[in-house]
Parts: sequence; structure tokens; C-alpha cells
Amino acid sequence: PQVGMIPVSALLKEVVLLTESEALMKGCQINLHPLQEDMVISGDVKQMKQVVLNMIRNAMEAVADREDDSMGKIEVGARREGSEVRMFISDNGKGMDIRTLDRLFNPFFTTKENGTGLGLSVSDRIIKNHGGCISVSSRVNEGTHFVISLPLIH
Ligand code: ADP
Ligand code: MG
Repeated sequence: PQVGMIPVSALLKEVVLLTESEALMKGCQINLHPLQEDMVISGDVKQMKQVVLNMIRNAMEAVADREDDSMGKIEVGARREGSEVRMFISDNGKGMDIRTLDRLFNPFFTTKENGTGLGLSVSDRIIKNHGGCISVSSRVNEGTHFVISLPLIH
């Protein structure tokens, strides 16, 4: 792993840019909230991008699977909380029931026909290895809110 200084705003910008056109083609909007301040984390930039990319992909898939046809929306941003950064990825997609919420970090757990069920278990490992944690809240047919907490360098 390649450890380095990672500006949070650049990290989020890059992954949003990467996924934006794919999202728009699927009738889904990604809104990157401007960050209030410069925040820097330490870690493997490739792994960090993989985590955010996985979460945005999951959000796009959740939005595509909704019951109603209103515009899919994904919100991405970050804010400082003491000595930590909280990055968030929220969607107004299909949401999750308790059964899914209990299992989503388990390796190979998937509710998708062609899912691997590895995205979140790998992400959880990566974030824990960087001294952080992932939390999630969700409501069926309303949406899902993921938060990635990580220690800040400054
Ligand atoms: P995969 O995407 O291959 O299914 P993941 O580990 O990325 O594997 O996700 C596991 C499961 O968690 C998904 O199959 C889905 O049921 C649920 N999930 C993850 N993110 C979301 C989300 N944003 N909205 C609804 N369900 C989600
Ligand atoms: Mg996934």
C-alpha cells in the first residue's frame, strides 16, 4: 500500500467526476457539497478512492431500483468533527430493511442478481485499517446515508 497525504476535497471531487456521466445517463444526479475547509487524511489514495467509488456505485444502483420514477439524487460531502472528518454519501434510493442492514458488511452478502457482495466488506476493512469506521442509516423506499469517519492529519 502507498501511504500519503490525501486532501479530502480532491478525493471526493475525483470520484464524483468519474461517476457523474454514468449517473446522469441513468437519470440520477450527484451533488458534491462544497467543503467548508481544507481537510487532509493519511493513507492509501487508491484504497480510499475504491471505498468512495463503491459507495457511489451502490447508491446509483439503489436509486435505479426505486419504486417511483422521481429523480434519483446522491449527495456527497464531508465535514470536520473534532479531530476527525466525516465523509457522507447519501441517496434517495430503495433503502434497506433490518435484514439487509444486519448483513451488509458480511463478505459475499448481496441482494443483487450480479452482485459480488464484496464492496462493503472490503471497504470496512480498508477504513478500519486507516483507523476509522463506517456507519449507516437507512429507511426502506426513502434512502440511505453512509458516513465514513477518519482521523485528520490537519
Ligand atoms: P454488492 O454491491 O455487490 O451487492 P456491497 O458489499 O457493495 O455488495 O453491498 C452489499 C449489499 O448492501 C447490497 O447488495 C445491497 O443490498 C446493500 N446496499 C449497499 N449500499 C446500499 C444503498 N446505498 N442502498 C441500498 N442498499 C444498499
Ligand atoms: Mg457494491
